[in-house]
Amino acid sequence: MTLKKAYKTNDLYPAFNSAESVSVDDISEIISKLIFFCGNVNPKKDCCFSHIVGLPQHPATLQPMKYMPHQLDLIKQSLVDKQVKFHVNKSRQIGLTEICLRIIQYQSFHKYKGGKILIIAGTREKTTRTVMNRLKSMFNTIPSTVKSNDNLSITLKNGTEIEGKPSNSEAIRGETKIKAVMVDEAAHFGIIDDSVVLDAIEPILHTNRSDIFLVSTPRGQRGFFYELTKSENDYKMVQYDYTNAVGWIYTQEEMNEELKRSDVDVDQEYRCQFTSARSSIFGVITDESTEDYEVEEY
Ligand SMILES: [Zn+2]
Repeated sequence: MTLKKAYKTNDLYPAFNSAESVSVDDISEIISKLIFFCGNVNPKKDCCFSHIVGLPQHPATLQPMKYMPHQLDLIKQSLVDKQVKFHVNKSRQIGLTEICLRIIQYQSFHKYKGGKILIIAGTREKTTRTVMNRLKSMFNTIPSTVKSNDNLSITLKNGTEIEGKPSNSEAIRGETKIKAVMVDEAAHFGIIDDSVVLDAIEPILHTNRSDIFLVSTPRGQRGFFYELTKSENDYKMVQYDYTNAVGWIYTQEEMNEELKRSDVDVDQEYRCQFTSARSSIFGVITDESTEDYEVEEY
């Protein structure tokens, strides 16, 4: 992987395209010139970033699939030169965390190149690691762009650093060169007053003009993720409920069954509602239970 040589096999034998020369060459520069997605299922040579890293897979069939309209909507809205601040209220299982990670990965070669990106997920290191491992796996198809890969961070050869952090504000403070912050499951942090998290992030955004993606399913009428929906602020509010993925990764009939469940708060999990019923029907929220969510697999 660290081979540095003056001649490649195909310099000597131009017709011979060895697998080694492909994996050794750093393709960061090529990626930095590509658009996010060409719009086709089948790739052409260097047609787009999405075909270099691979299209998303259907969660059941594992076949490559095009982006769903709501995913394209967020991609389109986020890929702009100016600072973007997103508050994304989403249903579970609609591929939204996936898309945010892909946007961050793409921008690591474009808008965020050479800077630092913070991924804040969970109050425990374990949760943060799960999200980071998922991001790391997205670099498996472009290993030549990765310089090093530590416990909770990835450093790219183009200088971009992506670092996972648990949500305690001490870990977040004092960062510089930050180009973007993603907060995954922002409504689910296991602290009673989670406003300290946003209080720690806001000055960073202001100083660095960094992008931010606050992404979450709702979790009761509490916490900064909920409060932002009630206050005047400069976040762009976007909301994607379960209907966005109907016909793509599940059918309406399948969802009708799911929506009958009484053991989950379906209005909250699938319909983007900040329900107040949770504490009475689904148990009182404690420090422990708020942290007890699973990182979305799709
Ligand atoms: Zn393409």
